[in-house]
Amino acid sequence: MDELGQTSPVTPTESVDNAEGAKLLNALREEKAWLRIMVDQVSDYMFVKDTQCRFIMANRAMAQDLGYDSAEDLIGRTDLELYAFPIALAFYRDAKQVMRTDQPIIDKEEFVVLPNGTRRWLASSKFPLRSSTGELVGVFGISRDITERKKSDRLRDGQAQVLEMISSSAPLSEALDCLVRLIEDQLDGMLGSILLLDEDGVHLRHGAAPSLDPEYCKLVDGVAIGPKVGSCGTAAFRGEQVIVYDIQTDPLWQDFLPLAELAGVRACWSIPILSLAGRVLGTFAIYSRQPVAPGPSELRLINDTARIAAIAIERKRAEEQIRFLAHHDPLTGLPNRSQLDDCLRQAIRRSDALSHQVAVVFLDLDHFKSVNDSFGHAAGDQLLVIAAERMKANLGKDGVVLRLGGDEFVLLVSGDMARQDALQAFLVRLRAAIAEPVEIEGQTFHITCSMGIALYPNNGTDADTLLVHADAAMYGAKQAGRNTFEVYNPERSAESPTDLVLLEEIRIGLARDEFSLLYQPQIDLRTGRVLGVEALVRWQHPDRGLLSPDMFIPVAEEGGLINALGKQVLKMACRQARNWQQMGLPPVTMSVNVSARQFTQRGWADQVKGILQKTGLDPSMLELELTESMLMRNVEQAIATMNELCALGVRFAIDDFGTGYSSLSALRSFPVSRLKIDQAFVRDAAEDSSGRGIAEAIISLGHKLHLNVIAEGVETEEQLEFLRESDCDEAQGFLIAKPLPAADIERWIGKIWDQPDA
Ligand code: C2E
Ligand code: MG
Ligand code: MG
Repeated sequence: MDELGQTSPVTPTESVDNAEGAKLLNALREEKAWLRIMVDQVSDYMFVKDTQCRFIMANRAMAQDLGYDSAEDLIGRTDLELYAFPIALAFYRDAKQVMRTDQPIIDKEEFVVLPNGTRRWLASSKFPLRSSTGELVGVFGISRDITERKKSDRLRDGQAQVLEMISSSAPLSEALDCLVRLIEDQLDGMLGSILLLDEDGVHLRHGAAPSLDPEYCKLVDGVAIGPKVGSCGTAAFRGEQVIVYDIQTDPLWQDFLPLAELAGVRACWSIPILSLAGRVLGTFAIYSRQPVAPGPSELRLINDTARIAAIAIERKRAEEQIRFLAHHDPLTGLPNRSQLDDCLRQAIRRSDALSHQVAVVFLDLDHFKSVNDSFGHAAGDQLLVIAAERMKANLGKDGVVLRLGGDEFVLLVSGDMARQDALQAFLVRLRAAIAEPVEIEGQTFHITCSMGIALYPNNGTDADTLLVHADAAMYGAKQAGRNTFEVYNPERSAESPTDLVLLEEIRIGLARDEFSLLYQPQIDLRTGRVLGVEALVRWQHPDRGLLSPDMFIPVAEEGGLINALGKQVLKMACRQARNWQQMGLPPVTMSVNVSARQFTQRGWADQVKGILQKTGLDPSMLELELTESMLMRNVEQAIATMNELCALGVRFAIDDFGTGYSSLSALRSFPVSRLKIDQAFVRDAAEDSSGRGIAEAIISLGHKLHLNVIAEGVETEEQLEFLRESDCDEAQGFLIAKPLPAADIERWIGKIWDQPDA
């Protein structure tokens, strides 16, 4: 024993009997006292155990954490007296191992529960200890508290897990629940809660609160936000964080004291969950059973959590919107073409029961295009919305209205209204209702409609046939001078509604090589490099000048000339791509649009193969653009056709993605390598947060399916910035370059795009 009350195997023990010796001894004692002071200053645990694993030295930090006033009290004790058995046993084994092997253990992570119940993670090193004569006397150890690091590891892992749940479309409630539990794990004894703001922007709904009293959660569900509605109601109302240290004295909680008592809570810190655009989506709150204020690290944690919750909520809403959009027309909210089969089936079931007929009414607004052209799309859109409302109002419960696209609608009339006389009266009423003047921004519009009617079961029994016949009847109504309706007449339908003159001109134009291609560059958003070009057909019409595809492709499709035209386009595109290769230009993919009629035509894949062979183009340089509706028409056949060409190396892209009707899961089955986000989404994304959410969701969906995502119709820097931020892969649009003649493209290929007009 020395004056510090300890035995120490490393104390020098020579005997000293002269003045010189006394001085030396003093110096040594002093040095020991200093060492003791230093060791006690260290916040890590330091200890020495003898060969029986009894403490023979420990520092103050260790003694205090183990519940002793002084380090002396530890001397002679073993871990068995200090820790639960499994922990003590592990320590014992480690010490024995170190002594047996004479090898230290370095930075081993250990979990301990201290006598006061505190849980702690330690990183411990243990070394064999020998006396000056080389005899083994025990183990020396040092342990560092790594609890905070472990906690932050768990936080990071937990956050990653929640983000993963979000991206893998787990139910929102599960992701939020996981998030709240994660925070509760970080803040000992605290209770977390997430409330979601209803669509009405007024009521808060239960989101997640795994540890709060369920009765309390039930009572809070549906509460209206306001300037004095506890912490969360007020935080959502103000759009800013509300920290209540003591519920019992805070005026914000005055009206909710019984509730707080029920839940046994005394403090509540709440923060609004904000969307990217700053809209309140809900609140995240931390409750405590004692009155208490948050520290800076707690505030940071709450803020981070609210941000992750925002991602989860926004992401879920965007997905729901995409699902809705897949089946509805976003402008009018009406069901779209994808719903036609289902709606018709329902109407037929209803009519069979009543043994009535079903009327399929194809309705097209007259001269709608001129409204769009003269007054702009916004006016056109409003007009469509108003017309849709009038159709719905007149139809009432006796049917449904669908929007096929543009100014085309289909009404399915069933029940009593589908009877011959009632139907006639309905159509007259509807025509009059549509023709009522419409006031848009101080301007009065008069618009009329033409309608064609096909009757189930007389004119067909499936949706496609009925629609084709109703469409033919509608053309009849147009030719009869518009603002009228016509019932399908099989005899008259032999007359083609197509523009016969134009069709003839296309035929001549094909023979005279009046069609040519422009090419629009597609760039890699990460490198700015040109990766490919899209071939876009133009027609040099002898009288009318250069025409865009919208002016002639639909007529060519309808008149059976699209295959000839498509073949010519593909030949020109492949030849051009091959030329560029031979000129030694860097490789660029050639994307060619394919029309539905071409794709479904028998022998089309062979035709493509033949052209590839004849032009000598490497098939992997060719990409064919299809639309969703083409794929969904006959899924199996589409897959077979695509696989046949894929085997050669040809790739496929889905054009105008987002406007069609494909179920997102069905996309998986097609051998597609690229999604082209339709221009409409790119435009919306730069305009508002919901458009942004949709575009982001499409991009991440594409990535999840391992597809490249290219954005079409990029016109502004803002859109480009958004796309880069959203991790979109590629872009195409006027901002980068308009469709250009081949010679201009040659200057483009190989250069890196970095600014407009570069
Ligand atoms: P698409 O395949 O979606 O082609 C993109 C269209 O968007 C092109 O119109 C292009 O000029 C236009 N565009 C590109 N960037 C921008 C932009 O920043 N802003 C705006 N407002 N528009 C942009 P284009 O050449 O008039 O072609 C229209 C559609 O005609 C094409 O849409 C495609 O579906 C079809 N088409 C074009 N060439 C062919 C062809 O050879 N065969 C077939 N079957 N269809 C074709
Ligand atoms: Mg295209
Ligand atoms: Mg497109």
